[in-house]
Amino acid sequence: MLKTAKIFVAGSRGMVGSAIVRNLEQNGFTNIITKSSKELDLRNQQAVFEFFETEKPEYVFLAAAKVGGIHANNTYPAEFIYDNMMIQNNVIHAAYLNKVEKLFFLGSSCIYPKFAPQPLKEEYLLTGALEPTNEAYAIAKISGLKMCEFYKKQYGCNFISAMPTNLYGINDNFNLQNSHVLPALLRKFIEAKQNNASEVVVWGSGTPMREFLFVDDLAEACVFLMQNYNDAETVNIGTGEDVTIKELAETIKKTVGFEGELVFDATKPDGTPRKLLDVSKINNLGWKHKVNLQHGIEKTLDWVVENNFEMF
Ligand code: GDP
Repeated sequence: MLKTAKIFVAGSRGMVGSAIVRNLEQNGFTNIITKSSKELDLRNQQAVFEFFETEKPEYVFLAAAKVGGIHANNTYPAEFIYDNMMIQNNVIHAAYLNKVEKLFFLGSSCIYPKFAPQPLKEEYLLTGALEPTNEAYAIAKISGLKMCEFYKKQYGCNFISAMPTNLYGINDNFNLQNSHVLPALLRKFIEAKQNNASEVVVWGSGTPMREFLFVDDLAEACVFLMQNYNDAETVNIGTGEDVTIKELAETIKKTVGFEGELVFDATKPDGTPRKLLDVSKINNLGWKHKVNLQHGIEKTLDWVVENNFEMF
């Protein structure tokens, strides 16, 4: 990828897309195209086709998606399947029609079967039933992944995909109903400390295990794969290490400096018991994460404070 290559980052206002743009800029790429969803609704086929015909991007990072935590996925499955399938169908097909040099599609670790052996290897995809709380999102993402594979097989397009683990960091969503666990708990502990509260409520039993990757590390991996990987099989992106939700809550509590209690709300769902990625493939290709969980939480907390909590 030349430094002057025309690169479209779809989803550039989101946490992942904005991190990819930051990484590309830091690496000296000068011709990056971004559009807000107001300027270009990626669910609208005509708008997407016109955009590709006019701009003719050479490289595409498809980081646009409707995302959310366990509650949002469980409550709005129709929106999750429709929005995600429309976005990816339009962008992938437009990339094919307009002879895009290379496209990179982001999947998600929740698309592996609920009870697959751990750590999850790339080859476990489609070997069992999915976790019901995010089935709609997972089905959409699986179809995007397969679409890249089939466009490569039938048309010879250089379309690749990767599966990131749970992500967090700069530009995350901190909405207490719709966000993922890490930003939700970070906000809950910050606010509990500010309000001198005696406790913080953690959803579920605290026993599920999750792996967390700082989004700047993910962005680096995406740019790395765009430059170095051309195979049809997807690639896991993670740290290869996980913690229980209780351990995560305790780490955030300590980092924020909250001194009250943790209370577990068993009326909320636990979701999948564990989804640890096997990252040996990407490690063998030459990429490894840099930011550990403690450090990433500190960086995210610093960013929240620097921006005066305006994301809450
Ligand atoms: P998941 O990885 O798709 O299950 O999505 P989440 O990141 O939303 O949730 C991960 C785990 O954290 C689940 O077991 C949740 O029940 C648990 N959890 C604990 N407290 C919270 C919270 O405040 N918000 C969210 N979203 N999850 C929480």
